[in-house]
Amino acid sequence: MILILTPNTPSDSPIYQQLMGYLDKLPNIQYRVHQEQGAEQLLTEVYLIGSTAALSLDYMTSLPGVERAVRVSEEYRVLGRHHASDPRPSHFDYNGVRFGQDNLNIFAGLCAVDNPEHVEQMLKALRDNGQVCTRMGAYKPRTNPYAFQGHGKNCLPYVFELAGKYGIKVIAMEITHESHMDEIFEALHQTGDATGVMLQIGTRNTQNFELLKIVGRQQRFPVLLKRGFGITLDESLNAAEYLASEGNRKVVFGLRGMKTNMGDPHRNMVDFAHVPVVKRLTRMPVCIDPSHSVGTRAAGADGITDISQVVAQGVIAGANMILVDFHPDPATALVDGPQALTLPELPYFLEDVAIAREAYEKRVALRQKYADA
Ligand code: PEP
Ligand code: MN
Repeated sequence: MILILTPNTPSDSPIYQQLMGYLDKLPNIQYRVHQEQGAEQLLTEVYLIGSTAALSLDYMTSLPGVERAVRVSEEYRVLGRHHASDPRPSHFDYNGVRFGQDNLNIFAGLCAVDNPEHVEQMLKALRDNGQVCTRMGAYKPRTNPYAFQGHGKNCLPYVFELAGKYGIKVIAMEITHESHMDEIFEALHQTGDATGVMLQIGTRNTQNFELLKIVGRQQRFPVLLKRGFGITLDESLNAAEYLASEGNRKVVFGLRGMKTNMGDPHRNMVDFAHVPVVKRLTRMPVCIDPSHSVGTRAAGADGITDISQVVAQGVIAGANMILVDFHPDPATALVDGPQALTLPELPYFLEDVAIAREAYEKRVALRQKYADA
């Protein structure tokens, strides 16, 4: 059971103390308090664990400071959507950008940072096309130990400075070790917090529970958690819950295709049919990564690349974020050049996404019209 307190109930207020005093006396019930300071309000949720079946919702709602009481299942306790009228939000704000199940953000950028010139060309193209988010890989988990591993902390100062220069507000950046979080924190500080970072946990680390716990214990950076490429959806959603259970619920869930090894034409089997599933089961915004799903720039007879096709499929199904590889010169990219789109393709890509998003919105309105009829 979750108790949602009246907004702006600080922990030193008499009402809060009174409520905690009551909860302390409940037999076989433990509780955990989650507080989140939003732009305007302090939100507090109290998660009750143990013998909650005997507690009546009406009674718990009547307790001092409690606005609503909600029964939740054991599954994805914090991030789950427990019933259609779950009153908890399905969005969050970070550095002036809204991430929600009801909107769409595009993170086009470099799979791996190679040099300041390419970073600047990429960011300038984004700015010129009205974009405020990007992806920039500094720490690259590679299959081959002799492959380029990313420039790591050495590239962070120029990446963050250039992001500030071009008005980029959020950079999705994968980390593979907790020390990377500290390096990012430090480099941001050095640049006067010129931009923001969404920490990315890659598919190879989806079930790195110790990393998840450490990343979950900080609330400064939101997190993009990629689905594991060889585990069930339930296992990946539980991995996301690890982040939230430690305190960070600013989590976006990323679909990036599944390994099948059946001679597929794509690098992974595209799983964007799961966009509505994740939105139904949880309150997380859902990201699609067409680049790591498809893995090539191949195009069909109509000239449309498979990457743009799957983007359209994900967006028309309600995806909330797109993580996509671009590069000013894919032939010289140090990682994943074959799947990178080029800067002259950016305006086309964005326009194509807008068509799919508009179609999604029309489909929602159509559904609503028939439901109301
Ligand atoms: C990436 O986004 O650069 C990446 C390595 O993705 P994934 O973890 O999905 O393979
Ligand atoms: Mn990549």
